[in-house]
This record gives sequence, structure tokens and C-alpha cells, in this order.
Amino acid sequence: MPKTILTGLRPTGNLHLGHLFGACQNYLKLQDQYDFYLEIADVQALTDNFDNPKKVRLNVKEITMDLLSIGLDPTKVNFFIQSQIKEIAELTVYYSNLVTIARLERNPTVKTEIAQKKELFGHNGESITYGFLGYPVSQAADITIFDGELIPVGEDQLPLIEQCREIVRKFNSIYGKTLKEPEPILSDTARIKGLDGNEKMGKSLGNAIFLVDDDEIIKKKIMNAITDPSKIKKDDPANPNICMVYYYHKLVNTKENIEKVCSECKKGTRGCVACKKELIEKMNKFLAPIKEKRKYYEAHPEKVEEILKAGTQKAQQRANIQIQKIKKAMMIDY
Ligand code: SF4
Repeated sequence: MPKTILTGLRPTGNLHLGHLFGACQNYLKLQDQYDFYLEIADVQALTDNFDNPKKVRLNVKEITMDLLSIGLDPTKVNFFIQSQIKEIAELTVYYSNLVTIARLERNPTVKTEIAQKKELFGHNGESITYGFLGYPVSQAADITIFDGELIPVGEDQLPLIEQCREIVRKFNSIYGKTLKEPEPILSDTARIKGLDGNEKMGKSLGNAIFLVDDDEIIKKKIMNAITDPSKIKKDDPANPNICMVYYYHKLVNTKENIEKVCSECKKGTRGCVACKKELIEKMNKFLAPIKEKRKYYEAHPEKVEEILKAGTQKAQQRANIQIQKIKKAMMIDY
């Protein structure tokens, strides 16, 4: 039997290049090797969008269409909606006794996200909800309810996997060996920077190119991307390594052209406007097949619904078997 791999995405907006290069391209390889469960994490999305359920509901379909358009194959990947697996919520309650509040507050991923919230929205600590602080516990339930063995993550999410492993060890030590400890699979692509040079590309940071952006929007975004500020005139030599336009050429252009961009930029024989125009053309060419595939699903929303329904049913069956095993171990199998 192939190992079970589980990953999740929060339906809070469309996918952007950061998702594509940072995680989703890796999924394309993994879907051929493992029993792949892909969770559309609507409950987790509600932890910081609890007052905007329409946004989460709309994006369940949107994000599924994005994932299908990049080439994930529903015959290989089991797409399911988190809120429809009631065993996850049940297991989260059981796990909540196995982790202390102090341990959750010390989780580096949670600490970073709290700091970002404070910076972005001016939240003080008092606005952090119980649900948000506890999301690593719910994530441990997401993973273990499917006996998830391998979890594709970025380096910044490793503490969440470690937290899950701790919960599993504690559960097994109290109730007997029942659960598997998941292992992380690190993506081979580093985090993708934003158009503004920020280390992270993100919707809330306003520095992302989305897979659904049309040609005009892409043009506008790339024309405003950060370049080497020391280059004032067209023929000034510059440093491509501090230029976001060059950074994106490296993602979507050919090896030969990337070398050309680099050497012409250094010599001062390439102007920034021409360089950006070339990137716009290459970016549109790169995204064209994804958009083409998306058009099919936009025209056939019933196909997306069928995929989610079938995947959710399969996930429900598996979660039901696992929760029985867990409740038996906990002596609550009345
Ligand atoms: Fe960036 Fe291209 Fe301008 Fe060089 S020529 S600074 S790579 S946009």
C-alpha cells in the first residue's frame, strides 16, 4: 500500500505564484507516488475569518478550481472539505487535553503569525481567539484522523508537525500505541518572494501574482515591481540579484534567456521597461495553459462539486474507521 500523504489549503483566496512554486508543483510529483488527501481547510480558514463566512464558502470552489487547473488529478488526489469530516472536530476536543496553553503559545509558527497579525491589523494579544491559538491541535486531528504519514510543508511549518508528533506520542503513551507519527516532506523550492521584494508573497501583503490574474493586471503588477534602485538611466549597469523582475524571469523564462537578462543588466545594455515587457510576455505564456484548464471548470461547476463530493465521502469513510479505533483506545466506545 502506498503511504498516506496529507496536506491542506485554507480557502481564503485564489492561489498565487507563491503557492504554485512553493508547494503545489511539489504536489504534482507526489500525486503519482502516494495515497494523497488534500484538505480544503474551511474550518481553519474560519479561525481568522469567522465573521466572513461568505468569503470562505466562495473560496472552497475557487481554490479547488485553481488546484485542478494546475494539473492535480482528481483520480489521484482525494479533495475533501474539512468541515464535512465531523470526526476532525471530535478528535480536536480529545487532543485538547493533551497539550498545554503554554506549549501552544511557544509554538514558533503560532508566535510568528500572532506577530504578523499585530503588525498588519494592529491587533493586541487580547484579540487572539481560543480557536486561533488551538489551530495546531486541530491540525494534528486533520493529520491523524487519516493516519497521515507524510506531510508536505515549508520550513516555517515544521513546528506544527513537531507539535502533532508530540500529541501523537502523548496519546500513545497514555492510551496505548494507536496513532502514527507523521513525517514532514520539505518542499525543494524555497519560499517565493513578493513583487515588492518582501520575503513572502501574500494576498494581504498586496505583492502577489494570482493564477487568475488577467493580462492587464499582470502587466500593471510587473510594471510596478521593484528593480535595482541604483539604475536611473536605461544604460546604467545594475545588479539583477536585487531586482524582483530578474527574480521572476528565473521562475518563468528559459535558461538561455535568464543568462541573457543577467549579463545585459550587468553591462547596462538592457533597459528596465524592455526587461519588464519581456517578463510580462513570458509570465502570460507560462500561465496560459493553467487559465485554459480553469475555463473548463468555470464552465462546468458541477464537475468541481462532484470531485469535492466524492473526495469528501471517501475521507468520511476513512475518518470513521479511525475514530472508532481512537475511541476504543480511550475507552469511550459505548
Ligand atoms: Fe531588473 Fe531588468 Fe532593470 Fe536589470 S534591466 S534592474 S534585471 S528590470
